[in-house]
Amino acid sequence: MKKTIAILGATGSVGTQAVSVAKAKGYEVDLLTGDSNVRLMEQLARELKPREVVMANESAALDLRQRLCDTDICVRGGGYGILSAIAHSGAETVVNAILGQAGLLPTLGVINEGKRLALANKESLVIAGEMIMRLARERNVEVIPVDSEHSAIFQALKSGKPSEIKRIILTASGGPFFGKTKEQLRSVTLSDTLAHPTWKMGRKITVDSATLMNKGYEVIEAAHLFGVSPEQIEVVIHRESILHSAVEYIDNTVIGELSVPDMRGCVQYAVDYPDRTEGCMEPLDLFKVGSLSFAKPDFEAFPLLSLASRALSDGGAMPAVVNAADEVAVSAFLEGRIAFSAIPEIVTEVYSACGEAKAERTLEGTIEIDRITRERANALVTEWEI
Ligand code: NAD
Ligand code: MG
Repeated sequence: MKKTIAILGATGSVGTQAVSVAKAKGYEVDLLTGDSNVRLMEQLARELKPREVVMANESAALDLRQRLCDTDICVRGGGYGILSAIAHSGAETVVNAILGQAGLLPTLGVINEGKRLALANKESLVIAGEMIMRLARERNVEVIPVDSEHSAIFQALKSGKPSEIKRIILTASGGPFFGKTKEQLRSVTLSDTLAHPTWKMGRKITVDSATLMNKGYEVIEAAHLFGVSPEQIEVVIHRESILHSAVEYIDNTVIGELSVPDMRGCVQYAVDYPDRTEGCMEPLDLFKVGSLSFAKPDFEAFPLLSLASRALSDGGAMPAVVNAADEVAVSAFLEGRIAFSAIPEIVTEVYSACGEAKAERTLEGTIEIDRITRERANALVTEWEI
């Protein structure tokens, strides 16, 4: 039987790869969502013929409705449009590839509707991981990670029981600035930052990979998804991005997942799980890879990696603070307003000023803290402006 899926954030880097998996595997796609890229969305809608398309940006939705008026595709707009489309969707699996905090309510919406969640949007787990995993347990919903490391860990966890896990080995490419000192990082440019050595991704996550904030997010993500403590997660730099992560069991056996770096494999696994079907990514040629290397991360040059673990231990809405401050700082960097080295400075300073968030436990309170943090971070951006 044909599988039916929905793709949220379909116009993005992961989203377009999910589209390519859907085409290759013959999945039915009944819902696509985007933000403002009307041209690409029109093309995707004509190709995949979903029942419904939602653009978060209302004026983009108006434009798209005009463009698709010769079809019977329903076009809606706004964040609530996305939530209501999730509720109406007939998809068994929803791929959430929305960028940033905007992915949080859709994540909760998918779980509330009892549909399988193929989750690329790591920010939702960073902001509200406990609530999401609790709701998923209550609704008996499967949350299958699409982030490559977590997909690898999810697969490696099939080899043992939770009580037999010793630690998680979370691999990191190290990004474009591996080996650079704090001093050297003061002079890197935007184009140096966007030149990721192994993965082609959206701009925000590419910057986060360069500061290692992305790996920090992934520590938080792993802790929530797999119920492990931050002390059980070790980050290991692995430049080749072939071993996507691994689990060490109490008998000292390490089980990992190896494949070419290609998000299509992760999307396909999440949709087809528990089955394995013919792959749409290239097979791994170990002779071509030659050798695999491993190194320790430099916590001093890349302080956001440890800040994320601290936020997880500090608890409450502190991870949401890190996320909001980082979203603001990274977008200022992408706009050329601040230097690369200002990103960790801003995030760290905002973090120190938001200690009250430790006590926050509710969704509404966390969303309010996200708003306040953005205000504080925006004020600091002005101070760091070049
Ligand atoms: P991207 O910027 O390329 O795409 C983001 C998508 O989200 C687009 O479709 C955009 O229209 C949509 N979007 C943006 N703002 C929105 C809003 N306010 N409301 C609704 N939709 C909105 O990003 P990406 O690199 O594809 O990353 C998407 C998510 O997947 C992120 O959470 C990222 O951390 C995660 N992820 C990405 C990769 C990768 O290879 N790119 C790997 C692992 C995890
Ligand atoms: Mg990843």
